[in-house]
Amino acid sequence: MTERNTAHYQEIAGRLSPSSKAFIDGRFVAARGGATFETCNPATGEVIAAVAHCQAEDVDIATASARRVFADGAWSRAAPEARKLVLLRLADLVRANAEDLAVLESLESGKPIRDCLREIGEEVPNTFQWYAELIDKTFGKVAATGEAALAMIVREPAGVAGLVLPWNFPLLMAAWKLAPALASGCSTVVKPAEQTSLTALRLAELASEAGLPDGVLNVLPGMGETAGQAIGRHPDIDLVSFTGSTEVGAHFLRYASESNLKPVGLEMGGKSPFIVLDDAEISDDLVENAVTSAFWNGGQNCSANMRQIVAMKVRDEFLDRVVKRTAQLRIGDPLDPETDMGPMVSDEQRNRVTGYLESGRAQGARTALSLAEAHGRASGSFLGPTVFDDVTPQMTIAREEIFGPVLGVIPVGSVEQALQTANDTVYGLHATIYTRDLDKALFMARRLACGTVSVNGFTEGDLKTPFGGYKRSGSFARDKGVEAMDQYLQTKTIWITTHARWS
Ligand code: NAP
Ligand code: MG
Repeated sequence: MTERNTAHYQEIAGRLSPSSKAFIDGRFVAARGGATFETCNPATGEVIAAVAHCQAEDVDIATASARRVFADGAWSRAAPEARKLVLLRLADLVRANAEDLAVLESLESGKPIRDCLREIGEEVPNTFQWYAELIDKTFGKVAATGEAALAMIVREPAGVAGLVLPWNFPLLMAAWKLAPALASGCSTVVKPAEQTSLTALRLAELASEAGLPDGVLNVLPGMGETAGQAIGRHPDIDLVSFTGSTEVGAHFLRYASESNLKPVGLEMGGKSPFIVLDDAEISDDLVENAVTSAFWNGGQNCSANMRQIVAMKVRDEFLDRVVKRTAQLRIGDPLDPETDMGPMVSDEQRNRVTGYLESGRAQGARTALSLAEAHGRASGSFLGPTVFDDVTPQMTIAREEIFGPVLGVIPVGSVEQALQTANDTVYGLHATIYTRDLDKALFMARRLACGTVSVNGFTEGDLKTPFGGYKRSGSFARDKGVEAMDQYLQTKTIWITTHARWS
């Protein structure tokens, strides 16, 4: 997508009039109780819209609609080719509306427009397209038996899926869950994060336009404690897929155990290491990756590589170059295509991160770069980047997920110490390793307890590769890849006893 200037995006922002009602059974409706809550622009503090404040009764209505259409089979039993066509049309509609959606997402979340355009112009529609194309290329199995039986293993849509989303990649996380859920034939009840509801609502409208039957995709804006909990506890929701914090993920396990024992797929927090071994060349590429891994999306990224575990031998050069590159990051108006970092998603989030800055200093980390307040903005939830050195594995900033622009360098003396330090966490989402020695890289990759290991580059993989966490970063569920389908499909054995003769 061609990049335009700030004025172009401001012009779009000025004419957008997003629907802020709930989307239930194929239409926009107010919350049953009539309540609304405000969604604000974190770059300015201005109110964008009053959004339908859904409660448990709205979840009941949406779930009943999702169940009805699931049972009548309009989507769940539709021919694979038919489902594929609808999702391909949805991918095209997202592409056609990408600029508007990207501006809306940037306004609500404070994410830089450049990132929103890439995610919504490319990654979101590609996700719908990829799963659409998978639908009619998926086969069941026939088990080995004697002639007296035919044993088929078939996959069936699991039913009504509750999808509960975070605010850091609002529409992309919606796509990572909705695309495989819809491809599998499930009906869905979606709760976006309270900060970012508007793009999911527009997506539901586009899905309807693409031909998705009413009730298959319901979007209920609201609060976690009410609408989110109602999804988690609903007796007629067959599964939940959740992305968010580890704390709330644990709530969903409890809701399930206290209701209908629904399976719960969890994608949660992280404290991921960026490991630089002593043979690594401190190249421009390495420095760029180190800075991106920590500060992309303002550090509001579950796989942010905040613990940068660096061999003593290269530490000074590494730190010097990382500090210089970080100082060049452009913090400012999210609608400016030149902006690298917008505001934090909210004042609450900024204040949480500021608390970690104080904790790091109090526990003895050395401040190598402090630009937290150097953003030059008079209003909005802005927080510039900080780089700490001499971080030790015991410090709170090395143990807890910060979810903000704070990079911490932990110096180490050996490969063993790097590995031990990297694994010394309750999380296990991601790790990056930089080394010229592929033997060392593979040895470490095998021994790192995490869902994705990235060697000589910072990446979460692509659409084809599964994403999820070990330990408290996730359950066995994975988003992306063919593996994501497992969250939304049941496995059935059909065993036919045959007589293998004519009479
Ligand atoms: P969060 O507070 O856990 O919220 C996630 C979702 O759960 C929101 O929709 C939220 O609603 C809802 N929720 C909150 N409290 C709830 C409750 N008691 N019962 C039911 N639902 C509840 O997480 P977040 O602050 O939005 O996102 C940041 C976290 O997500 C970070 O920890 C990050 O690491 C993680 N994350 C993980 C991945 C991954 O793939 N592993 C990806 C992105 C983010 P409200 O918005 O109304 O609170
Ligand atoms: Mg929250």
